[in-house]
This record gives sequence, structure tokens and C-alpha cells, in this order.
Amino acid sequence: MENEKSRREFLTASILTTLAVGCGKANVFTPENDNVKPSGEKVKLLSVDGDIIEVDKAFLKPAYDENTISNAAARVGIAGKSFVMVIDLARCKNLKKCQDACNHMHGVHPGQNWIKVAPMQETEHTAPYWQPTTCMHCDEPPCVKVCPVDATFKRQDGIVLIDSDRCIGCRFCMAACPYSTRVFNWEDPKLPAEVAAHTYSCETSMPQKTGTVGKCDFCPDMTRNGELPHCVSACPNGVFFFGDMNEDSVTNGAETFRFSELVKDKAGYRLMEDLGTKPRVYYLPPVNRNFPFEVGLENEKQKS
Ligand code: SF4
Ligand code: SF4
Repeated sequence: MENEKSRREFLTASILTTLAVGCGKANVFTPENDNVKPSGEKVKLLSVDGDIIEVDKAFLKPAYDENTISNAAARVGIAGKSFVMVIDLARCKNLKKCQDACNHMHGVHPGQNWIKVAPMQETEHTAPYWQPTTCMHCDEPPCVKVCPVDATFKRQDGIVLIDSDRCIGCRFCMAACPYSTRVFNWEDPKLPAEVAAHTYSCETSMPQKTGTVGKCDFCPDMTRNGELPHCVSACPNGVFFFGDMNEDSVTNGAETFRFSELVKDKAGYRLMEDLGTKPRVYYLPPVNRNFPFEVGLENEKQKS
């Protein structure tokens, strides 16, 4: 028993040290810490001592990267990029994997979701469908225009962000957003201690602060590294496409399309177009649906 315990402590220390030097995007939780049952599937990791060690996959979890971009650089954004999202309503079955991933990776309070999935039905004779919504990252964002302290801003790549270090919690932006996408942080988020201790970054929107406003940020830390936002990667049905309008390309990780052809061929549209906000999120209508409309699938996490 003593041997078993010391081996476990050694593994935990080795792996955490390995991750501390920044070679992975995984963190390790021991059975004692997280009450996790072993899966039986082993993965190999390299410790800082150069040893190959094997760890049960169940004890690995995505970890938050320490951000190295200054808030000043985060405000500028990425030159030459013009980010865009396409959401295919024909593929959504309300599994809410997007919401789970977003909440986990941003430390969002339960019930304060940045991504919402709502049942929609245009008229009594038309079919219901599920509609995920994010921040629309408007090109003419009313939220930015009303912020009295320049805490919310639009970057050169089109992403609209919030700097919680500046935000005074007046909630003018919440009132101005026609998409009701912003949430007010009434309480401290419950974050792992190592995440809560991070210096705040408006590129990761982490850690969220009490008395400020939060919202979907298009995961700019991921896009800076050429990776997809967490909602895109987490959706098993390929609902979310993300890409660059300058390259005319969007992908859900498995399929890639020319953005212009996709929205033209499938009659893409934007929400509340008449307001002139020019959203960067396009929707493909729920025709030729992949799944029937069903309620409650979000509670059956094993289905995908
Ligand atoms: S959807 Fe709302 S919060 Fe997002 S950019 Fe547009 S107005 Fe601002
Ligand atoms: S709540 Fe914060 S981000 Fe929103 S308008 Fe007020 S200061 Fe700006």
C-alpha cells in the first residue's frame, strides 16, 4: 500500500512537472483528487527527467494554458485575419457538447452559459429545430459603442472582446446587445486553484471576475495558434464551422468548405440582419435535417 501510494505521488509530481514546462495541453488528476475511475486505456507521457511514463487516460483532462499574450496585444488581434463562423442548423440535436466545452474551458458559471441552444419554431405549421447562439462578433457592434470605459472592443480580425480589468460592471453593453448574449458575473467562478491564480488575460477571458460582464470570445487564444474554438472541436455532429473570410475557408475539423460557396449554396443568413449589426455568425437553415427534433438528448451524455 505504501509502495502504491509513493508510486502514485511520483507519477503525479513527474507529470505535473512535465506540464509545467509547457509541453502538453493535458493535466493530471489523481483518483484521490477527482474521484475518477481508471479507464484501462494508457497514454505515454514524457517527464522532465526524460522518462517515459504511462498514465491511465481517465486521469487526463484539458488544462488551461498560461497565456503569454499581453492584454495590449490581445486588443489588437491578428493581422490579415477576418474570422467567421457558420452554424448548420440541420445538424444540431441539442447535445450541448459545445456548451459543456465552452463552460469548462472558460470557467463559466453553471447557468451563465456563453453558448445557448434554444428550441425554435417559426410558425405553428413549420418544424421545430435547435438553434445554438454565440456572440455574433458584430462588425458594427452596439455593445462597443455604449461602453463608457473602452472595456469592450473590436479587434482587427473582427473578434469582439471584453477586458475585465477595465470593465466597471455598468451593464450598458448587455442592454445594447440585441442578441442577449452577454452575462453578468454575480459571483466568483469556481475554478481550479491553479487557474484562479493565473494573471487575467482578455485573450483567454480567464479567470472571469465578479462584477464584470462575460460572453463568447471565439477562443482567440486557440485561433492565434491555428486551432479551432472549443465549441467547434467539441461538437460530434459538425454543427460549427470556423474560418477566415480572407481565405474564404471554413472548417468544422472534419470538412472544409469555401465560405462564400457554403453560405450561397445553402442559403445562409444572419440573425436580425435588418439591425445593421453585421454579425460574423452565419446560419444554414434546418432543411434536410440529419436528426429528428428531440427534447432531452442533452441529458444523455453517452449519445453522440
Ligand atoms: S452579439 Fe452582442 S455582444 Fe456580441 S458583438 Fe454583437 S452586440 Fe456585441
Ligand atoms: S459592463 Fe463593462 S464592458 Fe459592458 S459597458 Fe459596462 S464597462 Fe463596458
